[in-house]
Amino acid sequence: SPVAVALEANGPDGVPRSSGLSDALFVHDGQITKRPMRALALSALAPRPGERLWDIGAGSGSVSIEWALCGGTAIAIEARADRAVNIRSNAATFGLTHQITVIEGAAPQILSGLETPQAVFIGGGFDAAMFDAVWSRIEAGTRMVAHAVTLETEALLSDLHQRHGGELMRVEIAHAGHLGRYRSWEVARPVVQWSAMK
Ligand code: SAH
Repeated sequence: SPVAVALEANGPDGVPRSSGLSDALFVHDGQITKRPMRALALSALAPRPGERLWDIGAGSGSVSIEWALCGGTAIAIEARADRAVNIRSNAATFGLTHQITVIEGAAPQILSGLETPQAVFIGGGFDAAMFDAVWSRIEAGTRMVAHAVTLETEALLSDLHQRHGGELMRVEIAHAGHLGRYRSWEVARPVVQWSAMK
């Protein structure tokens, strides 16, 4: 696959050790936490070897993969079958199938019976009911990180930050693009990140 070729092109040392790998290293359909935000997600998730992640709304599985590259295991939960296929494919390309369990289905219902995690990332489908279900399942000391792009989810994160503390951060990223003969900033949608410990 082109992704395997790209990984190969990284040379004998393999992929870089830092989080925030190139989006091109993952098979995805556009629904992927982009490189800079993924680096900030992993920074907040703070993976340590041997720890377990719940990656809820895993999409391409990029967050699970970067977590697993740090020596932990991940449970990637994804509602869409086509994306679950992408996650399995990406895990295989990175040689991480033994560290990443892909579960196809909708959270929070699908979470019952799963072994509890040390960290949770919520990249999709976050609402008050999802929060209540996840928060009641996880143990004290578990890290939770959520990203919001919509105003509705942002309002929820603002409310959760007031009730539970932690850190609320708004990230606005712009990339230099072309404007005729010149260059100009092309601004991405702002992303709000809430990270907290139960
Ligand atoms: N972090 C991912 C991108 C997530 S996009 C990556 O880097 O690739 C959000 C994903 O959440 C979508 O794939 C969507 O299908 C999934 N999703 C939305 N609601 C969900 C739910 N209730 N349960 C499981 N997955 C859900």
